Amino acid sequence: MKERVHLAQGDITKFRVDAIVNAANNSLLGGGGVDGAIHRVAGPKLLEECRGLNGCETGDAKITKGYLLPARYVIHTVGPVYRGGNSGEADLLKSCYRRCFEVAAKNGLKSIAFPSISTGAYGYPIVHACEIALRTSLEQLRSFSEIGSVIFVTFSGKDLLIYAKQLSEL
Ligand code: ADP
Repeated sequence: MKERVHLAQGDITKFRVDAIVNAANNSLLGGGGVDGAIHRVAGPKLLEECRGLNGCETGDAKITKGYLLPARYVIHTVGPVYRGGNSGEADLLKSCYRRCFEVAAKNGLKSIAFPSISTGAYGYPIVHACEIALRTSLEQLRSFSEIGSVIFVTFSGKDLLIYAKQLSEL
């Protein structure tokens, strides 16, 4: 399974894959961080399509077109706000990754790029979030053989090292 997992550092809006994942908020109407970057590059039509989706529950995912992004689609998922770890955060974060794979497979997509969901403004400790991201994705790759490649895109070099270390230990 690991041969289908790739790590990269950079700006996820530049990746030419079937879908990039957006770490959105419940409104799906844009925000800061990676969400802001995706909307800026995709252009106003993305917001227009998002307005018709009626928001998104935490742990769920919804798909839109990518508009001016190099990626064909955006899968918007809403990670949990980290409140100390005893408020169901881990299950919700797992659910985000699971739902993104389900949505991708349902739409016949073969390559997905993920940012590090919940680890920015939502405060999830990167080491724990990274382990959930990698473990859940490896599990999902087993179920969805048609998804050929998953790229984890970290913004910082420090985060990339955390992903690399954990991937090598799995
Ligand atoms: P959340 O609200 O889910 O925590 P954020 O967007 O605040 O989402 O942060 C999630 C992660 O995305 C953080 O690690 C942040 O550094 C990273 N990030 C921010 N902008 C980009 C980008 N353009 N490409 C990739 N990752 C990004």
